[in-house]
Amino acid sequence: MIPYDIAVLGGGPAGYVAAIRAAQLGARVALIEAERLGGTCLNHGCIPTKTLLHNAEFLRELPKAKQRGILLADPGVTLDLPTMTRHKETVVGKLITGITGLLKSYGIEVFQGRGTIRSNLKITVDSGSELTAKKIILAGGSEAIRPPIPGIESPKVLTSREILNLEAVPEKLLIIGGGVIGVEFARIFNAFGSEVAILELAERLVPFFDEEISKNLTLQLKKEKIQIQTGTKVARFQETASGLEVLTEEGKTFSGTLALVSTGRKANLSAIEGLEIKTERGFVWTDPFLETSIPGIYAPGDINGKCMLAHAAFQMAEIAVENALNESGSKKEFRSRNIPAVLYGSPEAASVGWTEAEAKQSGKALKVGRFPFTANGRALAADQGSGFVKVVADAETEALLGVQMIGPSVSEIVNEAAVLLSVGASVRDIAETPHGHPSCSEALQEAAADALGIAVHLPKKR
Ligand code: FAD
Repeated sequence: MIPYDIAVLGGGPAGYVAAIRAAQLGARVALIEAERLGGTCLNHGCIPTKTLLHNAEFLRELPKAKQRGILLADPGVTLDLPTMTRHKETVVGKLITGITGLLKSYGIEVFQGRGTIRSNLKITVDSGSELTAKKIILAGGSEAIRPPIPGIESPKVLTSREILNLEAVPEKLLIIGGGVIGVEFARIFNAFGSEVAILELAERLVPFFDEEISKNLTLQLKKEKIQIQTGTKVARFQETASGLEVLTEEGKTFSGTLALVSTGRKANLSAIEGLEIKTERGFVWTDPFLETSIPGIYAPGDINGKCMLAHAAFQMAEIAVENALNESGSKKEFRSRNIPAVLYGSPEAASVGWTEAEAKQSGKALKVGRFPFTANGRALAADQGSGFVKVVADAETEALLGVQMIGPSVSEIVNEAAVLLSVGASVRDIAETPHGHPSCSEALQEAAADALGIAVHLPKKR
């Protein structure tokens, strides 16, 4: 059996990118995938949610039509979830076809089935194949956690995977967990007509985001009539004739038709059952170069728990493969600091680099600038004049340290901010670079100018 240079376990964002990069570097590559190519991201995560979210946003725009001079003949709206699901699957299918074609074009051999790593870098696939490799990329990704709460086994308690394929809109949806995934589903089903409540253990929603963003988001969600209960710990689920009840440790009861549990994700360790490999908090431990405790096995993506985002998985995959194939040269480290995080919906929120609180902890003197979308022409033209951009900079060097935003198009602006952070730009660089007018990204330029006290479209400060 001639060993492959690289065998990749998992065909999600980490796995398929690792396979392609390895082939680009001249390696002979095998990829093993138990389900469909594309992983969580394409099949149960980023893409399906954004397809449904687009439908939600489309619905939210409809009531604005009249005020904008567009008179709809029949304002009645009926949702057809099976058609929505089929449409989502069409989008997903196009992307899977794209990945399949890419892998083929690079001559990557794809094995369908569940792979298990045995000792000596040997892999068995449950569909019958066996292969060996000089290096392994372990990219098994993650799956939703079902916390050990009594009653959670009820079919009325769903994870983010099952809720994507509902045949009817639930009348009342209880969402356990107010992180990014929970909030996205809250917005989707709220727009579809469900009565939605979010129960969150922490004192605020999306606690990884800047506090001001979290507050602004909470206000927006409340305006949309989404009920939010923070500081709430679920004690039990109990089925009822019409749905289920959620009982909390604080003694409250919430009733719903269905519940979604979005309390976090855990590593999928099925490929390493029986293998002695170091784990940490349930995730596969790696060094900064993404090599595991077993030399020659690298673990990029969700499986290592370092940064559970698809674009982080893409980057980790490239780093892991380049390190795996580069035996003698200097190795690349994975750093999560300049990786943007986005919460989708309307308005969207985005963050890159340090929040103000994190920057304060560094002990540096700071300059903080803000610009509201109420003063941005492009946002107002689209009736989206709410939210703001906030920049945090080092007061002494004016170096940009972080950008936090909530408002229109911030999922795009954050990528500009990420590049600026990685090239070490200053707020002055941003303030002095003309941004196309009218554009939502002008708000970043103005926030940078505000940090320097020279924002032209903000009133004079006293
Ligand atoms: P995965 O995508 O989980 O892929 C792992 C693959 O490995 C799977 O296909 C699995 O079948 C396969 N596998 C596992 N074990 C084996 C085995 N033993 N043998 C063979 N195959 C195996 N991230 C963003 O950046 N933006 C978003 O908007 C976003 N939205 C999301 C929405 C939801 C609802 C969810 C759940 C996640 C979202 N994410 C988002 C996160 C994103 O999906 C993950 O970060 C990303 O998919 C991780 O890629 P991965 O390759 O590490 O793992």
